[in-house]
Amino acid sequence: MGTTWSVRVAVPARYRLDPLHARIQQRLDGIVQQMSNWEPDSDISRYNRAPAGSWLPLPPDFAHVLECALEVARASGGAFDPTLGTLVRLWGFGPGIADRGQLPEAASLQTQRSRCGWQRLQLEYRDGERVLLQPGGLEIDLSAIAKGYGVDAVLEMLLEEGLDCALVEVGGELRGHGRRPDGNPWRVLVEPAPGDSDGEPPMVLALDDCAVATSGDRWHAFEHGGRRYSHSIDPRTGSPVPDTLAAVTVVAADAVHADAWATALTVLGPEHGAALAERLGLAARFSPTPASGYAPRCTPAFNSRLTA
Ligand code: AMP
Ligand code: MG
Repeated sequence: MGTTWSVRVAVPARYRLDPLHARIQQRLDGIVQQMSNWEPDSDISRYNRAPAGSWLPLPPDFAHVLECALEVARASGGAFDPTLGTLVRLWGFGPGIADRGQLPEAASLQTQRSRCGWQRLQLEYRDGERVLLQPGGLEIDLSAIAKGYGVDAVLEMLLEEGLDCALVEVGGELRGHGRRPDGNPWRVLVEPAPGDSDGEPPMVLALDDCAVATSGDRWHAFEHGGRRYSHSIDPRTGSPVPDTLAAVTVVAADAVHADAWATALTVLGPEHGAALAERLGLAARFSPTPASGYAPRCTPAFNSRLTA
C-alpha cells in the first residue's frame, strides 16, 4: 500500500522476535494481496478490471473491510465512499499516475462521477462465501480504510499468539492493547499539523484497547493556480474537498472504524463533520488550516480520551 508498519511489544527477554516479525509481514502481505490497488494481481485490481455482470468471490478480509466501508458510507450520508477509484485516478492520485497536478476536464469529471457510487455495490452471501457484483466500470478504492484494517488484523494475530501488550502501527494509524511493564497503557502524541495549526497544543492519548487514525493532506496533495488539491474527494462534487482542514483525528474501538471515520469527517468538513461526530458520539479532533478561519475543535468524546 506504499507505506510502512511498526509494532512494539512487551515480551520476556528471550522471546524470539524474528519469527514474529515474519508472521506480521505475512499477515500484512495477505491484506495487500487482497486490497491494494498498487498490485495488478490483487483481488481488488481483478475486481476493478472485471467485465460488467461478473460476480467475484471475496476473501474474508476483503469482505469484512467492504462491509465496514459500507457501514460508514451509510452512516456518513455517503461522504465516505469506497468506490471512488476512477475519480481518485482522474485527480492524479492512486497508482500509475504520472501527471499529478493537472486538473481534469469537466466532461471527464462528469463521466467518471456517474460511474462511482457505493449504492452500485451488490455484496451477497452464496454457498458459504461472499460474492460481489461488478456492475460495469466500478473501481473500488479501500485506501481510506485498509491501513486501519491492517492494524486490527496484526493486533488480533498478536493476541492469538498469546501476547498481551502491543502497539501496532500501519501508515500512521495505531492501536494499543494491554499495559506496559510499568503498568501504564501505551501513550501516543497527537501532533497538531506541522506549521499549520498555530497555537494548537500537542495532545497525549492513552491507547487503552483502542485505536487512533488521522486523515490529512500533509503528503497527498498538489498545488495548481494557487489552490491546494487534496486526495480526499467529496463524492457529491467528484472533486477534492476544500482546503479547510489540515487534519482530522479519530479515536475508536478499532482501527478500521477510526480510519474510515477520519476520512469521512475530513470530507464532511469542520462544520458538518463536527456536528455529525457529536451526534454519533464519535471521538474526533478537527485541526483547520489557519487560512480557513475555523477554530480547532474536539468533540466531548475526544476530550474524555485525553490523558490528564
Ligand atoms: P485517508 O488518508 O485514510 O483519509 O485516505 C485517503 C485515500 O482514500 C485517498 O488517497 C483516496 O484513495 C481515498 N479516498 C478519497 N476520498 C475518499 C472518500 N470520500 N471516501 C473513501 N475513500 C476516499
Ligand atoms: Mg482513512
